[in-house]
Amino acid sequence: MPDTIFHKIIRREIPADVVYEDEDLIAFRDIAPQAPVHVLFVPKAPIATLNDVGAEQAHIVGRLAVAAAEYAKREGFDRDGYRIVMNCNAHGGQTVFQIHLHLLAGAPLGRFGT
Ligand code: 5GP
Repeated sequence: MPDTIFHKIIRREIPADVVYEDEDLIAFRDIAPQAPVHVLFVPKAPIATLNDVGAEQAHIVGRLAVAAAEYAKREGFDRDGYRIVMNCNAHGGQTVFQIHLHLLAGAPLGRFGT
């Protein structure tokens, strides 16, 4: 398995505040939260960037989004709302090269890009 910080979290080699896990994905709180709720949803299958997701892996991205929505419902902020973001490569601001969905919530986030 590749050795990003997220793979180390998946293998429990470094600690994380895990809020959800199943056989396909793990979700844990971001170490530097950008909103009152900032959770990362990470597939266990190694995929470096969104560019590496082919038709055979498309369901994995869908699973991340559905897991984020289910978390929002469980935590009770689904109606207030939330934002999901996936960064890709340098211009997107990606720093960890294992795909992950950011879930941001807990306060009005403002219009994207403003
Ligand atoms: P990216 O910039 O790749 O889209 O997002 C990477 C995210 O991972 C950042 O928001 C960063 O704060 C978070 N992060 C980096 N290292 C760690 C870590 O060791 N633990 C946790 N929980 N989050 C991390």
